[in-house]
Amino acid sequence: MSLPLDGLTAIVTGAGRGLGRAEALELARLGAAVVVNDFGQPGRDGTGEADAGPAEETAAEIRAAGGTALAHTGDVADHEQARRLVASAVDTFGRLDILVNNAGILRDRMVFSMTEDEWDSVIRVHLKGHFNTTRFAAAHWRERAKAAGGPVYGRIVNTSSEAFLAGSAGQPNYAAAKGGIVGLTTSTAHALAKYGVTANTICPRARTRMTEDVFAGVAGQDRTGLDPLAPEHVAPLVGYLASPAAARINGQLLVVHGGMVAVVERPRLGAKFDSKQDTFTYDELDALLTAHYADRPRGETFAAVEVLGLRRAEPAGNV
Ligand code: NAD
Repeated sequence: MSLPLDGLTAIVTGAGRGLGRAEALELARLGAAVVVNDFGQPGRDGTGEADAGPAEETAAEIRAAGGTALAHTGDVADHEQARRLVASAVDTFGRLDILVNNAGILRDRMVFSMTEDEWDSVIRVHLKGHFNTTRFAAAHWRERAKAAGGPVYGRIVNTSSEAFLAGSAGQPNYAAAKGGIVGLTTSTAHALAKYGVTANTICPRARTRMTEDVFAGVAGQDRTGLDPLAPEHVAPLVGYLASPAAARINGQLLVVHGGMVAVVERPRLGAKFDSKQDTFTYDELDALLTAHYADRPRGETFAAVEVLGLRRAEPAGNV
């Protein structure tokens, strides 16, 4: 029986634990050879020594289930290590087809107390980490498309968060990095469409090392016998977006958790105002915008807060 990802090669970053592990197992189950990347540090804040253990454990699990996997211990936020990660997939399996950017850390703090290091480290791992691998994978696909004289096969699945959609107050570094990832994905989707490559973003929710305290109050089993917040509920969407069947889905943003996928539509322009002259005066803006925002509840922001109120949603907290 042929599987949707037979013959394809995937990289999953941060796949030694949590969501990345479940996604790597799913891609392998669907037939892909998987390069399992993880830096392996013990702290969810990205502290401690690098450790080859987590990447190797996931790779061993894939092999034990009959799949093909290569463990890679490396920091995706380091440009050269990311280059080597992409090169290891190409050198070992002959090509790269799927890139799942998932590696991440947390350093939560209110904006008025956040240190420069807390800001820099989170932006570095999430946003620069996504850029680094994307840059080398994109160059690989462009080169292959040029050699082939037409589109090839490429899939990027990036990882944002409802923390960006909701603008969670205690996570300015994380919300900014996750918003940046959506911008990077949209730009990449536009740039690579002509080479046959799609780039989409998921906002997952799952009980992992990163969120075990946030979701401590959510318990039980769903109809599949799994924890409703199991990472295994996110992995099928990643497998689907990585597959040939998802060729039409490009530059999109989807929320996923516990048996639910929600499409986030692009922001729409609302009311539009034209100045009576060619530029606005303070008084003109005051009259127009005071009237426009008059009925809005105080504190309402641009954030897509309704996403948090979906049927299966649990209190989102800082995710
Ligand atoms: P996790 O802590 O269980 O796993 C993250 C993995 O990334 C770890 O194994 C860690 O070693 C690895 N990692 C960290 N920095 C790295 C680096 N520089 N290079 C390579 N690997 C690195 O967390 P998780 O919940 O599985 O998170 C996975 C992704 O999903 C993250 O991007 C996170 O922001 C995002 N996310 C998670 C949730 C959730 O509810 N768990 C919600 C929204 C978004």
